[in-house]
Amino acid sequence: MHSYVFPGDIDPKIAAIGSKPFLYMRTDEFSEINKESERLLLELIHCPGGRTIIYTGSGTGAMSAVVENYVTTKKKAIVIDGGSFGHRWFDLCCYYGVDAIDFKVPFAKDIDYGLLERTVAEEKPDVFLCQHHETSSGQLFDLEKISAICHGNGVSLVVDVISSFLAEPLDMGALGIDICITSTQKGLNIPPGLSVLFFSPRLDGYTFNHKGYYWDFDDNFSNLRRGQTPFSPATILFLQLNERLRQLKGQGGEEKNIADVRHRSEVFRGLCAKYGWEIPAEVASHAITGFKVNEKEPRKVFRGLIDKYDTYIMPGSIPGFYRVSHMGLQSDAELEALAACIHEFEI
Ligand SMILES: *Cc1c(COP(=O)(O)O)cnc(C)c1O
Repeated sequence: MHSYVFPGDIDPKIAAIGSKPFLYMRTDEFSEINKESERLLLELIHCPGGRTIIYTGSGTGAMSAVVENYVTTKKKAIVIDGGSFGHRWFDLCCYYGVDAIDFKVPFAKDIDYGLLERTVAEEKPDVFLCQHHETSSGQLFDLEKISAICHGNGVSLVVDVISSFLAEPLDMGALGIDICITSTQKGLNIPPGLSVLFFSPRLDGYTFNHKGYYWDFDDNFSNLRRGQTPFSPATILFLQLNERLRQLKGQGGEEKNIADVRHRSEVFRGLCAKYGWEIPAEVASHAITGFKVNEKEPRKVFRGLIDKYDTYIMPGSIPGFYRVSHMGLQSDAELEALAACIHEFEI
């Protein structure tokens, strides 16, 4: 079986941790592992002097935590709504009663940065919420331009990098991002279930809100200072995360991983050209390829791949649009075989 979804095929050594006996979490050993994971995560995202919170919960849990604890301390938010993940930021703001501007960006299009700059100058939001990579379409946004607009207007920048961390170059310190969010089943390529918040040192001493018991920042920070979590952590996932981070460090760090993801995407995009599949994204991230096939019946490719080849790709929101993740392990030959199998179900 091959998987081109999230997390995709994962390293057998990481997967095997899940079947071994594991540590009790209220120990110094577990604390040391978590402190090391925090150090390695901050290195990978270039956030010297920063802090992390590692939650047992998927990425949306961490997005919710950011709104409960941080965004509600602000007067007005602006959200880049370029697809289902961007819209999730807007939904969360509505849910918690935060005044938010829904800055819509058409499917698979880049932001009109001139219009964005004028909107920020006129509306004067004090917090900016966006995705680096809008995973629903494959569109990558330009964080340098976004960061310049935020810093020019005194707006705090929060970025969901869930599907770009370790797949696209990302320097949180240089970009002056206050909070970044990621989760384990995307670029980290381990099973789903943990999400990570990265905090810039500029937020040291910040007075956060207390609007969510389970995700409370201050409670998590005070426990994490001793490498512990306030509630039962998904212990196996914490061990898999630590092993994966050590592996990344030993194998050339984020640069090597980003180069590998890029190579896979370039191979697959060559195959898209060969079979005549259009890639709608204006600026396509290497993390996934979103492409349109010539399908005669809805979901024929998706079902056919599962039924005949035990292989998963991701259906998209429009007919014939599929997404293949490049964040899992995959060889050139496997990608060639995948494309041939997709083509088989087109006709
Ligand atoms: C996967 C993903 C999320 C989180 O989704 P969950 O279902 O909570 O794991 C959030 N934002 C982006 C951009 C994503 O790709």
